[in-house]
Amino acid sequence: MAQPPKPHAVVIGGGIGGLTSAIALHLSGWRVTVLERAATLEPVGSGIGLAPNSQRALDVLGLGDRVRSRAALEGDGGMRAQNGRWLVRLSASAAASEFGGSLVLLHRANLVDLLVSALPADALRTGARAELADPGAADRRAVVRTEGGDIEADLVIGADGINSAVRSALFPAHPQPTYAGFTAWRIVVPAPDRPFEPHETWGRGGVWGTHPLKDGRIYAYATATVPAGGHSPDGEKAELARRFADWHDPIPAIIAAARPEDILRNDVRHMSTPLTHYHRGRVALVGDAAHAMAPTLAQGGNQAIEDAVVLAHHVDPANDLAAGLAGYSAARVPRTTAIVRQAARAARMNHLTNGPLIAVRNELIAAAARLGPNLILRSFASIADWRPPQQPYAAGTQVAQR
Ligand SMILES: Cc1cc2nc3c(=O)[nH]c(=O)nc-3n(C[C@H](O)[C@H](O)[C@H](O)COP(=O)(O)OP(=O)(O)OC[C@H]3O[C@@H](n4cnc5c(N)ncnc54)[C@H](O)[C@@H]3O)c2cc1C
Repeated sequence: MAQPPKPHAVVIGGGIGGLTSAIALHLSGWRVTVLERAATLEPVGSGIGLAPNSQRALDVLGLGDRVRSRAALEGDGGMRAQNGRWLVRLSASAAASEFGGSLVLLHRANLVDLLVSALPADALRTGARAELADPGAADRRAVVRTEGGDIEADLVIGADGINSAVRSALFPAHPQPTYAGFTAWRIVVPAPDRPFEPHETWGRGGVWGTHPLKDGRIYAYATATVPAGGHSPDGEKAELARRFADWHDPIPAIIAAARPEDILRNDVRHMSTPLTHYHRGRVALVGDAAHAMAPTLAQGGNQAIEDAVVLAHHVDPANDLAAGLAGYSAARVPRTTAIVRQAARAARMNHLTNGPLIAVRNELIAAAARLGPNLILRSFASIADWRPPQQPYAAGTQVAQR
Protein backbone atom coordinates (compact mmCIF):
# COMPACT_ATOMS: atom_id res chain seq x y z
CA MET A 1 0.00 0.00 0.00
CA ALA A 2 1.31 3.49 -0.87
CA GLN A 3 2.59 5.50 2.10
CA PRO A 4 0.80 8.82 2.72
CA PRO A 5 3.00 11.78 1.79
CA LYS A 6 5.13 13.15 4.60
CA PRO A 7 4.03 16.48 6.08
CA HIS A 8 6.15 19.38 4.84
CA ALA A 9 8.24 21.60 7.13
CA VAL A 10 9.68 24.78 5.57
CA VAL A 11 12.65 26.32 7.36
CA ILE A 12 13.36 30.04 6.74
CA GLY A 13 17.08 30.59 7.31
CA GLY A 14 20.09 28.32 6.80
CA GLY A 15 22.19 29.21 9.85
CA ILE A 16 23.03 26.82 12.64
CA GLY A 17 19.45 26.91 13.99
CA GLY A 18 17.80 26.35 10.62
CA LEU A 19 20.14 23.57 9.48
CA THR A 20 19.92 21.61 12.74
CA SER A 21 16.13 22.04 12.83
CA ALA A 22 15.87 20.65 9.31
CA ILE A 23 18.03 17.63 10.19
CA ALA A 24 16.08 16.94 13.38
CA LEU A 25 12.69 17.24 11.66
CA HIS A 26 13.83 15.08 8.75
CA LEU A 27 14.84 12.36 11.22
CA SER A 28 11.41 12.68 12.87
CA GLY A 29 9.57 11.95 9.64
CA TRP A 30 9.05 15.40 8.08
CA ARG A 31 9.84 16.39 4.50
CA VAL A 32 12.04 19.45 4.89
CA THR A 33 12.93 22.47 2.75
CA VAL A 34 15.46 25.05 3.94
CA LEU A 35 15.21 28.49 2.30
CA GLU A 36 18.36 30.59 2.72
CA ARG A 37 18.55 34.07 1.19
CA ALA A 38 22.34 34.08 0.79
CA ALA A 39 23.70 32.73 -2.49
CA THR A 40 26.06 30.38 -0.63
CA LEU A 41 26.38 29.18 2.94
CA GLU A 42 29.54 30.95 3.95
CA PRO A 43 29.53 31.34 7.71
CA VAL A 44 31.52 34.18 9.22
CA GLY A 45 35.18 33.24 9.52
CA SER A 46 35.39 32.54 13.20
CA GLY A 47 35.28 29.80 15.75
CA ILE A 48 32.32 28.52 17.70
CA GLY A 49 32.44 26.92 21.11
CA LEU A 50 30.10 24.00 21.68
CA ALA A 51 29.44 22.92 25.24
CA PRO A 52 28.30 19.43 26.32
CA ASN A 53 24.64 20.51 26.18
CA SER A 54 24.63 21.08 22.42
CA GLN A 55 26.96 18.15 21.82
CA ARG A 56 24.34 15.88 23.41
CA ALA A 57 21.72 17.42 21.12
CA LEU A 58 24.03 16.65 18.18
CA ASP A 59 24.34 13.07 19.48
CA VAL A 60 20.57 12.73 18.99
CA LEU A 61 21.15 13.66 15.34
CA GLY A 62 24.04 11.20 15.03
CA LEU A 63 26.52 14.06 14.61
CA GLY A 64 28.06 14.47 18.07
CA ASP A 65 31.18 12.39 17.50
CA ARG A 66 31.74 13.85 14.04
CA VAL A 67 31.71 17.34 15.56
CA ARG A 68 34.02 16.30 18.39
CA SER A 69 36.48 14.78 15.92
CA ARG A 70 36.76 18.13 14.06
CA ALA A 71 37.12 20.22 17.20
CA ALA A 72 39.83 21.20 19.63
CA LEU A 73 39.26 20.41 23.29
CA GLU A 74 38.64 23.54 25.34
CA GLY A 75 39.00 24.20 29.02
CA ASP A 76 42.78 24.23 29.54
CA GLY A 77 44.17 27.61 30.46
CA GLY A 78 42.01 29.97 32.44
CA MET A 79 41.14 33.56 33.21
CA ARG A 80 43.68 36.35 33.37
CA ALA A 81 43.82 40.02 34.30
CA GLN A 82 44.91 42.64 31.76
CA ASN A 83 48.52 42.55 33.04
CA GLY A 84 48.65 38.78 32.55
CA ARG A 85 48.15 37.69 36.15
CA TRP A 86 46.27 34.40 36.28
CA LEU A 87 43.01 34.77 38.20
CA VAL A 88 41.91 31.18 37.63
CA ARG A 89 43.68 28.20 36.14
CA LEU A 90 41.43 25.56 34.65
CA SER A 91 41.93 22.21 33.05
CA ALA A 92 39.91 20.54 30.32
CA SER A 93 39.51 17.46 32.53
CA ALA A 94 38.10 19.52 35.45
CA ALA A 95 35.66 21.17 33.06
CA ALA A 96 34.67 17.79 31.62
CA SER A 97 33.99 16.31 35.05
CA GLU A 98 32.02 19.38 36.19
CA PHE A 99 29.88 19.49 33.03
CA GLY A 100 29.61 15.77 32.28
CA GLY A 101 31.51 16.27 29.02
CA SER A 102 34.11 18.38 27.27
CA LEU A 103 33.91 21.87 25.84
CA VAL A 104 35.03 21.96 22.22
CA LEU A 105 35.88 24.68 19.73
CA LEU A 106 35.69 24.40 15.96
CA HIS A 107 35.70 26.63 12.92
CA ARG A 108 32.16 27.62 11.93
CA ALA A 109 32.75 26.48 8.36
CA ASN A 110 33.44 22.95 9.64
CA LEU A 111 30.20 22.89 11.60
CA VAL A 112 28.14 24.20 8.69
CA ASP A 113 29.73 21.70 6.24
CA LEU A 114 28.86 18.86 8.60
CA LEU A 115 25.27 20.03 9.06
CA VAL A 116 24.75 20.45 5.32
CA SER A 117 26.12 16.95 4.70
CA ALA A 118 23.44 15.55 7.03
CA LEU A 119 20.54 17.17 5.16
CA PRO A 120 18.57 15.14 2.66
CA ALA A 121 19.49 15.85 -0.98
CA ASP A 122 17.62 18.84 -2.46
CA ALA A 123 16.45 20.08 0.95
CA LEU A 124 18.57 23.23 0.86
CA ARG A 125 17.76 26.11 -1.50
CA THR A 126 20.20 29.01 -1.42
CA GLY A 127 19.52 32.40 -3.00
CA ALA A 128 15.95 31.92 -1.75
CA ARG A 129 14.69 34.88 0.26
CA ALA A 130 11.47 33.90 1.98
CA GLU A 131 8.69 35.66 3.81
CA LEU A 132 5.94 34.34 6.04
CA ALA A 133 2.70 35.21 4.23
CA ASP A 134 0.33 33.32 6.54
CA PRO A 135 1.19 31.55 9.82
CA GLY A 136 -1.66 29.09 9.24
CA ALA A 137 -3.96 27.52 11.80
CA ALA A 138 -5.25 24.08 12.78
CA ASP A 139 -7.51 23.99 9.72
CA ARG A 140 -5.23 25.92 7.34
CA ARG A 141 -1.69 25.34 6.15
CA ALA A 142 0.87 28.09 6.54
CA VAL A 143 2.14 29.95 3.46
CA VAL A 144 5.73 30.98 2.79
CA ARG A 145 6.29 33.45 -0.05
CA THR A 146 9.38 33.22 -2.26
CA GLU A 147 10.36 34.79 -5.56
CA GLY A 148 9.62 31.44 -7.14
CA GLY A 149 6.06 31.38 -5.77
CA ASP A 150 4.16 30.54 -2.60
CA ILE A 151 4.86 27.32 -0.69
CA GLU A 152 2.20 25.78 1.54
CA ALA A 153 3.63 24.21 4.66
CA ASP A 154 2.34 22.05 7.49
CA LEU A 155 5.00 23.61 9.71
CA VAL A 156 7.25 26.67 9.30
CA ILE A 157 10.45 27.24 11.26
CA GLY A 158 11.54 30.85 11.65
CA ALA A 159 15.31 30.47 11.84
CA ASP A 160 16.09 33.83 10.28
CA GLY A 161 18.38 35.17 12.98
CA ILE A 162 18.42 38.18 15.28
CA ASN A 163 16.61 40.50 12.83
CA SER A 164 13.93 37.89 12.26
CA ALA A 165 11.12 39.07 10.00
CA VAL A 166 9.24 35.90 10.95
CA ARG A 167 9.33 36.98 14.61
CA SER A 168 8.02 40.43 13.65
CA ALA A 169 5.23 38.87 11.60
CA LEU A 170 4.16 36.64 14.50
CA PHE A 171 4.58 39.18 17.30
CA PRO A 172 4.47 42.63 15.65
CA ALA A 173 4.24 44.54 18.95
CA HIS A 174 7.26 42.82 20.49
CA PRO A 175 10.29 45.13 21.01
CA GLN A 176 13.24 44.63 18.68
CA PRO A 177 16.60 43.42 20.06
CA THR A 178 18.61 46.15 21.78
CA TYR A 179 22.30 47.02 21.90
CA ALA A 180 23.97 45.08 24.72
CA GLY A 181 26.47 47.88 25.31
CA PHE A 182 29.55 46.43 23.64
CA THR A 183 31.00 45.53 20.30
CA ALA A 184 32.85 42.30 19.41
CA TRP A 185 35.80 41.57 17.13
CA ARG A 186 36.65 38.07 15.88
CA ILE A 187 39.70 36.81 14.01
CA VAL A 188 41.30 33.54 12.97
CA VAL A 189 45.09 33.79 12.59
CA PRO A 190 47.84 31.27 11.73
CA ALA A 191 49.46 29.27 14.53
CA PRO A 192 51.84 31.48 16.53
CA ASP A 193 55.61 30.79 16.66
CA ARG A 194 55.60 30.36 20.42
CA PRO A 195 53.34 28.09 22.49
CA PHE A 196 50.70 29.85 24.56
CA GLU A 197 48.09 28.90 27.10
CA PRO A 198 44.46 29.48 26.09
CA HIS A 199 42.94 32.28 28.09
CA GLU A 200 40.09 34.70 28.51
CA THR A 201 41.28 38.00 29.92
CA TRP A 202 39.04 40.49 31.64
CA GLY A 203 40.51 43.99 31.47
CA ARG A 204 39.19 47.51 31.74
CA GLY A 205 35.92 47.73 29.76
CA GLY A 206 36.81 44.77 27.63
CA VAL A 207 37.63 41.09 27.18
CA TRP A 208 40.14 39.23 25.04
CA GLY A 209 40.05 35.46 24.44
CA THR A 210 42.65 33.33 22.63
CA HIS A 211 41.96 29.65 21.87
CA PRO A 212 43.49 27.09 19.50
CA LEU A 213 41.52 25.43 16.69
CA LYS A 214 42.19 21.79 15.85
CA ASP A 215 44.28 22.70 12.76
CA GLY A 216 46.64 24.77 14.92
CA ARG A 217 45.24 28.16 13.91
CA ILE A 218 44.10 30.53 16.61
CA TYR A 219 40.61 31.83 17.18
CA ALA A 220 40.66 35.12 19.08
CA TYR A 221 37.84 37.41 20.10
CA ALA A 222 37.69 40.74 21.85
CA THR A 223 34.90 42.91 23.17
CA ALA A 224 34.78 46.51 24.39
CA THR A 225 32.19 48.92 25.71
CA VAL A 226 31.75 51.51 22.97
CA PRO A 227 28.79 53.46 21.57
CA ALA A 228 26.69 51.48 19.08
CA GLY A 229 27.29 51.75 15.36
CA GLY A 230 30.98 52.63 15.46
CA HIS A 231 33.71 51.62 13.04
CA SER A 232 37.30 52.65 13.19
CA PRO A 233 38.21 55.25 10.54
CA ASP A 234 41.69 53.74 10.16
CA GLY A 235 40.55 50.11 10.23
CA GLU A 236 39.74 47.55 12.90
CA LYS A 237 43.33 46.29 13.19
CA ALA A 238 44.39 49.77 14.29
CA GLU A 239 41.45 49.88 16.69
CA LEU A 240 42.41 46.52 18.23
CA ALA A 241 46.00 47.72 18.60
CA ARG A 242 44.89 50.94 20.32
CA ARG A 243 42.73 49.03 22.77
CA PHE A 244 44.64 45.81 23.39
CA ALA A 245 48.28 46.02 22.23
CA ASP A 246 49.46 46.80 25.78
CA TRP A 247 47.67 43.74 27.20
CA HIS A 248 49.66 40.63 28.06
CA ASP A 249 51.19 38.08 25.66
CA PRO A 250 50.15 36.64 23.22
CA ILE A 251 47.59 39.39 22.52
CA PRO A 252 49.97 41.89 20.79
CA ALA A 253 51.36 39.11 18.58
CA ILE A 254 47.88 38.02 17.55
CA ILE A 255 46.89 41.56 16.60
CA ALA A 256 50.12 41.84 14.60
CA ALA A 257 49.37 38.57 12.78
CA ALA A 258 45.77 39.51 11.86
CA ARG A 259 45.04 40.40 8.25
CA PRO A 260 42.83 43.53 8.31
CA GLU A 261 40.33 42.00 5.90
CA ASP A 262 39.81 39.00 8.21
CA ILE A 263 38.80 41.02 11.27
CA LEU A 264 35.06 40.87 11.94
CA ARG A 265 33.41 43.55 14.00
CA ASN A 266 29.80 43.31 15.18
CA ASP A 267 27.84 45.33 17.67
CA VAL A 268 26.31 42.87 20.14
CA ARG A 269 22.52 43.02 20.43
CA HIS A 270 20.23 40.83 22.44
CA MET A 271 16.55 40.34 23.21
CA SER A 272 16.35 42.19 26.48
CA THR A 273 12.55 41.70 26.46
CA PRO A 274 11.92 37.96 26.17
CA LEU A 275 9.13 36.45 24.13
CA THR A 276 6.53 34.51 26.14
CA HIS A 277 5.97 31.99 23.31
CA TYR A 278 8.14 30.71 20.51
CA HIS A 279 5.19 29.68 18.32
CA ARG A 280 2.02 30.90 16.72
CA GLY A 281 -0.27 29.16 14.23
CA ARG A 282 1.92 26.58 12.46
CA VAL A 283 5.17 28.48 13.00
CA ALA A 284 7.97 27.96 15.52
CA LEU A 285 10.94 30.25 16.10
CA VAL A 286 14.40 28.83 16.82
CA GLY A 287 17.82 30.26 17.63
CA ASP A 288 18.51 33.99 17.54
CA ALA A 289 15.07 34.62 16.03
CA ALA A 290 13.61 33.45 19.34
CA HIS A 291 16.16 34.45 21.96
CA ALA A 292 19.21 36.35 20.70
CA MET A 293 21.67 36.65 23.56
CA ALA A 294 25.03 38.26 24.32
CA PRO A 295 27.94 35.93 23.45
CA THR A 296 29.44 36.09 26.95
CA LEU A 297 28.48 32.48 27.73
CA ALA A 298 29.07 31.31 24.13
CA GLN A 299 25.57 29.79 24.13
CA GLY A 300 23.64 31.38 21.25
CA GLY A 301 24.47 28.62 18.78
CA ASN A 302 24.31 25.95 21.48
CA GLN A 303 20.78 27.01 22.35
CA ALA A 304 19.77 27.03 18.68
CA ILE A 305 20.91 23.39 18.46
CA GLU A 306 18.99 22.50 21.63
CA ASP A 307 15.89 24.21 20.17
CA ALA A 308 16.12 22.05 17.06
CA VAL A 309 16.07 18.69 18.82
CA VAL A 310 13.44 19.74 21.37
CA LEU A 311 11.22 21.05 18.59
CA ALA A 312 11.52 17.81 16.63
CA HIS A 313 10.70 15.86 19.78
CA HIS A 314 7.46 17.79 20.30
CA VAL A 315 6.16 18.07 16.75
CA ASP A 316 5.88 14.39 15.91
CA PRO A 317 3.98 14.22 12.59
CA ALA A 318 1.65 11.60 14.12
CA ASN A 319 0.49 13.93 16.90
CA ASP A 320 -1.49 17.15 17.22
CA LEU A 321 0.67 20.03 15.94
CA ALA A 322 -0.83 22.76 18.14
CA ALA A 323 -0.16 20.71 21.28
CA GLY A 324 3.35 19.92 20.04
CA LEU A 325 4.20 23.56 19.42
CA ALA A 326 2.80 24.55 22.82
CA GLY A 327 5.00 21.84 24.36
CA TYR A 328 8.01 23.25 22.49
CA SER A 329 7.43 26.77 23.83
CA ALA A 330 6.83 25.46 27.34
CA ALA A 331 10.09 23.51 27.22
CA ARG A 332 12.26 26.24 25.71
CA VAL A 333 11.06 29.66 26.92
CA PRO A 334 12.08 29.32 30.60
CA ARG A 335 15.52 27.85 29.91
CA THR A 336 16.52 30.21 27.13
CA THR A 337 15.12 33.29 28.91
CA ALA A 338 17.24 32.45 31.94
CA ILE A 339 20.34 32.02 29.78
CA VAL A 340 19.75 35.33 27.94
CA ARG A 341 19.61 37.02 31.37
CA GLN A 342 22.67 35.16 32.66
CA ALA A 343 24.60 36.20 29.55
CA ALA A 344 23.60 39.85 30.09
CA ARG A 345 24.71 39.68 33.76
CA ALA A 346 28.03 38.17 32.72
CA ALA A 347 28.46 40.95 30.15
CA ARG A 348 27.98 43.60 32.85
CA MET A 349 30.50 41.82 35.06
CA ASN A 350 33.23 41.47 32.45
CA HIS A 351 32.87 44.96 30.99
CA LEU A 352 33.43 46.95 34.17
CA THR A 353 35.28 50.20 33.51
CA ASN A 354 35.81 51.40 37.08
CA GLY A 355 39.36 50.57 38.25
CA PRO A 356 38.58 49.89 41.95
CA LEU A 357 35.54 47.77 41.03
CA ILE A 358 37.69 45.78 38.58
CA ALA A 359 40.24 45.17 41.35
CA VAL A 360 37.50 43.92 43.72
CA ARG A 361 36.01 41.72 41.02
CA ASN A 362 39.39 40.20 40.18
CA GLU A 363 40.16 39.52 43.85
CA LEU A 364 36.79 37.80 44.31
CA ILE A 365 37.40 35.63 41.25
CA ALA A 366 40.91 34.75 42.40
CA ALA A 367 39.66 33.98 45.93
CA ALA A 368 36.87 31.75 44.58
CA ALA A 369 39.46 29.94 42.46
CA ARG A 370 41.70 29.37 45.49
CA LEU A 371 38.75 27.79 47.31
CA GLY A 372 38.38 25.46 44.35
CA PRO A 373 38.56 26.06 40.59
CA ASN A 374 35.37 24.07 40.23
CA LEU A 375 33.45 26.88 41.96
CA ILE A 376 34.15 28.99 38.89
CA LEU A 377 32.94 26.24 36.59
CA ARG A 378 29.83 25.56 38.65
CA SER A 379 27.99 28.71 37.54
CA PHE A 380 28.04 27.28 34.00
CA ALA A 381 27.17 23.73 35.03
CA SER A 382 23.39 24.13 34.94
CA ILE A 383 23.68 25.20 31.31
CA ALA A 384 26.15 22.52 30.27
CA ASP A 385 24.34 19.73 32.20
CA TRP A 386 21.30 19.83 29.94
CA ARG A 387 20.11 16.60 28.36
CA PRO A 388 17.86 16.19 25.30
CA PRO A 389 14.47 14.50 25.78
CA GLN A 390 15.30 11.83 23.14
CA GLN A 391 17.44 8.71 23.09
CA PRO A 392 20.21 8.14 23.98
CA TYR A 393 19.60 10.72 26.74
CA ALA A 394 15.89 10.22 27.49
CA ALA A 395 15.04 10.03 31.21
CA GLY A 396 16.15 6.74 32.67
CA THR A 397 18.74 6.04 29.96
CA GLN A 398 22.31 5.49 31.19
CA VAL A 399 24.85 7.22 28.96
CA ALA A 400 28.59 7.13 29.46
CA GLN A 401 30.22 10.52 29.98
CA ARG A 402 31.93 11.86 26.86
C1 LIG B 1 31.08 37.56 18.81
C2 LIG B 1 30.17 36.37 18.87
C3 LIG B 1 30.68 35.15 19.33
C4 LIG B 1 29.83 34.06 19.46
N1 LIG B 1 30.34 32.87 19.91
C5 LIG B 1 29.50 31.82 20.09
C6 LIG B 1 30.01 30.57 20.58
O1 LIG B 1 31.21 30.40 20.83
N2 LIG B 1 29.13 29.56 20.80
C7 LIG B 1 27.80 29.69 20.51
O2 LIG B 1 27.03 28.75 20.72
N3 LIG B 1 27.29 30.85 20.00
C8 LIG B 1 28.11 31.90 19.77
N4 LIG B 1 27.62 33.06 19.26
C9 LIG B 1 26.17 33.13 18.91
C10 LIG B 1 25.85 32.40 17.60
O3 LIG B 1 26.70 32.88 16.58
C11 LIG B 1 24.39 32.64 17.21
O4 LIG B 1 23.56 32.48 18.32
C12 LIG B 1 23.98 31.64 16.13
O5 LIG B 1 24.80 31.77 14.99
C13 LIG B 1 22.53 31.87 15.74
O6 LIG B 1 22.18 30.98 14.72
P1 LIG B 1 20.80 31.17 13.96
O7 LIG B 1 20.72 30.05 12.99
O8 LIG B 1 19.69 31.33 14.94
O9 LIG B 1 20.90 32.58 13.23
P2 LIG B 1 21.90 33.06 12.04
O10 LIG B 1 23.23 32.39 12.15
O11 LIG B 1 21.87 34.53 12.06
O12 LIG B 1 21.21 32.51 10.74
C14 LIG B 1 20.06 33.11 10.20
C15 LIG B 1 20.05 32.80 8.71
O13 LIG B 1 18.80 33.21 8.15
C16 LIG B 1 19.04 33.78 6.90
N5 LIG B 1 17.89 34.64 6.59
C17 LIG B 1 17.54 35.79 7.23
N6 LIG B 1 16.42 36.29 6.68
C18 LIG B 1 16.07 35.44 5.67
C19 LIG B 1 14.99 35.42 4.75
N7 LIG B 1 14.06 36.39 4.70
N8 LIG B 1 14.90 34.40 3.87
C20 LIG B 1 15.83 33.41 3.87
N9 LIG B 1 16.89 33.39 4.73
C21 LIG B 1 16.98 34.38 5.62
C22 LIG B 1 20.36 34.52 7.08
O14 LIG B 1 20.98 34.78 5.82
C23 LIG B 1 21.13 33.55 7.93
O15 LIG B 1 21.86 32.62 7.14
C24 LIG B 1 28.45 34.17 19.10
C25 LIG B 1 27.95 35.38 18.60
C26 LIG B 1 28.80 36.48 18.48
C27 LIG B 1 28.24 37.78 17.96
